[in-house]
Amino acid sequence: MPVSISRRTFLSAIAAAGTMRCRRAAAQSAVTRLILLGTAGGPRPQRARAASAQVIISNDVAYVIDCGDGVARQLALAEVPLPTLRHIFITHHHSDHNADYGNLILLAWTAGLRTRVDTWGPAPLERMTKLFFDMNAYDIDARISNEGRVPLTPLVHVHEIRDGRVVMSDDNVKVTAALVDHPPVVPAFAYRFDARDRSIVISGDTAPSESLVKLARGADVLVHSVMYPPAIDRLVGRVPNASALKESILRHQTPADEAGGIAEAAGVKTLVLSHFVPADDPQVTDEMWIEAAQSRFRGKVILGRDLLEI
Ligand SMILES: [Zn+2]
Repeated sequence: MPVSISRRTFLSAIAAAGTMRCRRAAAQSAVTRLILLGTAGGPRPQRARAASAQVIISNDVAYVIDCGDGVARQLALAEVPLPTLRHIFITHHHSDHNADYGNLILLAWTAGLRTRVDTWGPAPLERMTKLFFDMNAYDIDARISNEGRVPLTPLVHVHEIRDGRVVMSDDNVKVTAALVDHPPVVPAFAYRFDARDRSIVISGDTAPSESLVKLARGADVLVHSVMYPPAIDRLVGRVPNASALKESILRHQTPADEAGGIAEAAGVKTLVLSHFVPADDPQVTDEMWIEAAQSRFRGKVILGRDLLEI
């Protein structure tokens, strides 16, 4: 009967709407997730840790911060669906932070991405994005014509950031950038994510930085890059083609104890150590990193490792 069919349709539509409302409410009350994807400092591939990257997930939307070597693979290992990629933030243009920037976009697209992606970071991000698409035009065009994929290039919107400011906000997060001190790389940014339930700050690479203290004020979580100065001589001994590497590292990174001091000054609840320099020196134990940070910080210290969710 038409009446009963329409009544049944009407009732099931109400039920579906109710289910959707419940799902949406459940999703919105869910915690904002932070997963460390890569925790090594430096671009040299190594067994112990992947290069720098992390993802924040809110309402099934993925915000990736930095794209070191293997970031797409690390997302797969973390069981984050690549098509949920929505925003990419690059802190600065060192290869341990951007080597797989283009590859992440391309590989997410091959994994089913068909929606907009916004990317944020210092110049020349726009040119890098264009050159990457040019370099990979053969594969991209082939997959569009052979596999019926949506064109990739129009999905990607690049935003170059020149100074510290609120860079974007949506239903899930407000993102604020601050200039940090990573000479001679200018500009280099830290990013703060203020979500409904928590605030997370990613330092990027920086020497001890007052602007980072200001950005991180009162945050729940600060992920800070760290180095262990007594081990730097052994580290540079393993890299034979960079005669000024030691001076460069000492000038533009933060010792673990000073990262503790930054966390204390900012009044954050939890300090997460990451971007370890060195990342693979057996003489620098987990306890040594943690004790160094705790020497200047009374809050909780977490030793970062790949795929750790915080
Ligand atoms: Zn760097």
